[in-house]
Amino acid sequence: MRAGAQQVWSQQPIPTRLGPYPKPRPAGRYTEWRAARLASEPFHFILLCLAQTSRDDFRAWLILEDDERRFVIERWEHHGGHTPDGIHSHTWCQVPKPPFNAASIEAPRRLPGMRAYHRRAGRIWSKETFWFAACRRFAIDDASVHQGQLI
Ligand SMILES: [Zn+2]
Repeated sequence: MRAGAQQVWSQQPIPTRLGPYPKPRPAGRYTEWRAARLASEPFHFILLCLAQTSRDDFRAWLILEDDERRFVIERWEHHGGHTPDGIHSHTWCQVPKPPFNAASIEAPRRLPGMRAYHRRAGRIWSKETFWFAACRRFAIDDASVHQGQLI
């Protein structure tokens, strides 16, 4: 997947063109976000990353663009404040007709399940290391990463 325009980290409202929301969405007091527009022709995607570093909460959403509609295909996440800790996904696997736009955020299937083994449990993430890992997760070849912030 190739990356197009990429944002730097922001606390401004998330614009409609970079998220699943029908209107610009306030990021929230503790949230920084970053997004990249992606293409794997003929499909166009958005990677939206939401980081709450002080709460050890990191989320990367892969969003499919379908003209004016948006569809959150997968939420790839780490919630340090929850048990079990570790990387997991929320997806629409096995759902015949998932909803579009904001309703698509609530993907019902969690992988791995709550009682299953979780990869990367106990890892300390920064917003930049999570962004980098999310770009690898979604096979984004040319994502912009601030190397100095990966340490
Ligand atoms: Zn989650």
